[in-house]
Amino acid sequence: MGKYFVANQTMVTIECCNCHILFAVPEEFNDQQLKLREEGIFYCPKGHYQHYVGLSKEEKLKHQLSNAQSCCVEFEQKTAQLERKTIALRGHLTRKKKLLEEIRG
Ligand SMILES: [Zn+2]
Repeated sequence: MGKYFVANQTMVTIECCNCHILFAVPEEFNDQQLKLREEGIFYCPKGHYQHYVGLSKEEKLKHQLSNAQSCCVEFEQKTAQLERKTIALRGHLTRKKKLLEEIRG
């Protein structure tokens, strides 16, 4: 009992969501399970059903990129809207200046 092993293998620790036992799996296995999400079923050493939930790192990054891009599009639309308003206000100001000049004679 309580023996240790040393191996040239990267292991990823996982905590069981049910009994909270900490166990380790090879990195490649963990990556596969991360990609499979709900479809990748495995078990803790005590036999509790496990699978990853939510978004993978790649999916999270894609969402962040998508949000940043939509934010840029929104900013560009607002800038264009402000430019149109500025042009309209310049036209209005020019007409008012001409009217004032006509009144002054
Ligand atoms: Zn467990």
